Amino acid sequence: MKIAKNTVPSVTYTLVVDGEVVDMAENDKPLAFIHGIGMMVPGFEKNLEGLTAGSKYEFKLSPEEAYGEYNEDAVVDLPISTFMVDGKIKKDMLNIGQVVPMQDQNGNPMNGTILEVSDKSVKMDFNHMLAGKELNFTGEILEVRNATKEELDHGHIHGPGGHHHH
Ligand code: ZN
Repeated sequence: MKIAKNTVPSVTYTLVVDGEVVDMAENDKPLAFIHGIGMMVPGFEKNLEGLTAGSKYEFKLSPEEAYGEYNEDAVVDLPISTFMVDGKIKKDMLNIGQVVPMQDQNGNPMNGTILEVSDKSVKMDFNHMLAGKELNFTGEILEVRNATKEELDHGHIHGPGGHHHH
């Protein structure tokens, strides 16, 4: 079976960025996802399209095909009061380089990395960690199956390799 929309590929991968391995999935814990519904960055899906079990792959993604260009506007100063809980600043949250789960105005989760902390404000970077980077992927297709109707309804996979929280 070929990888196409609404199939579930199980794949190994190694992701190299700036010459360093930043993420990988090996045979004992492959990545499995529903293809063609936007679970993965577009360039990743496009390059795997049509491959079958046993195929090895290797490709590069430009920032545009992956997490986008680095956006200066996504670096913002937040008033320190943003980090107040019960009238106190949560100092243990405010370490340079720390990634803090936050929400935008609409309540959508987003991660910010702390760049600077002053008495009045905290400078945070809401760019994706891999924004502006070229991604180098290598790996192998282990299995391809059709997604079940339930999986398509839920928008995530079930069973081994799936991340299922109901
Ligand atoms: Zn489910």
